[in-house]
Amino acid sequence: MAKGITLIQGDITGQKVDAIVNAANSTLLGGGGVDGAIHRAAGSELLEECRSLGGCPTGEARITRGYQLPAKFVIHTVGPIWRGGERSEPDLLAACYRNSLRLAVENGAGTVAFPSISTGAYGFPVKQAAPIAIKTVQGVLADEPSITEVRFVCFSKKDYRVYQEELQRQGIITPP
Ligand code: ADP
Repeated sequence: MAKGITLIQGDITGQKVDAIVNAANSTLLGGGGVDGAIHRAAGSELLEECRSLGGCPTGEARITRGYQLPAKFVIHTVGPIWRGGERSEPDLLAACYRNSLRLAVENGAGTVAFPSISTGAYGFPVKQAAPIAIKTVQGVLADEPSITEVRFVCFSKKDYRVYQEELQRQGIITPP
């Protein structure tokens, strides 16, 4: 795989990276999907710290400790809810990746794992989300030498294949 970007199918809660990103909702008080999985794995102290943050607007990000996770930090970002694509959803999704990586840089986290933000309950079509995620991350990697790895962690085989195709299309990974 080319510099910096890696792709796996799996569970983000088990990733041994400096920071994992949570696809949170704007309350930051936990939810279903990847958010629920991260809170279960990190333990109740994560929710306590999240309570002190007072929420997070769509497109922005907040950082907490990782508690019982292998990752030192959790970066919580709030993806856009898909409403047809004409309500700044692509820009807001890109902002999630950018702002999450900015927090990683500021906190000295050089390896970061992302789930596929907004493509679960929030309904963003993964075929449109994957190129935005990849392009935005590549842009940050080009400017930020302190980030050595960004790992896309796809939970489903279907999402994994979409990311794989897009990474191959852009020449970031070569077909087997
Ligand atoms: P959103 O509300 O941003 O759409 P979801 O949690 O519903 O967030 O889904 C985002 C993505 O996270 C989906 O692709 C879903 O399959 C995936 N996902 C769910 N659980 C996990 C997990 N444990 N690790 C990685 N990805 C996960």
